[in-house]
Amino acid sequence: MINYKSYLLSIFVSLAISIGLQMILPFPFGLIAALALFTVYPLILRSRAMRKMGGSGSVGGGFFGQGQSFKYVCLACSNRFKGAVCPRCGSKMKKAEF
Ligand SMILES: [Zn+2]
Repeated sequence: MINYKSYLLSIFVSLAISIGLQMILPFPFGLIAALALFTVYPLILRSRAMRKMGGSGSVGGGFFGQGQSFKYVCLACSNRFKGAVCPRCGSKMKKAEF
């Protein structure tokens, strides 16, 4: 896990970079770049920590692996069901819903 000290340090680093960006770039662009940095930077940190912990870097695999809240919605009668065929009307036309 990310400890508190490196978390604080990363905030200070991204803050310093965002201040630097606003000095280099003209007003709206500097602010946008800083906001983008604050949005992206935690994601990078999290994915790096995930890679260090598990080794499986793919987020999608873990997401679909849960499977509990995974349901289908029938396109014919919009009945929610689990399985291959709609139990209400027998249609195989379906879309996935989470
Ligand atoms: Zn149906």
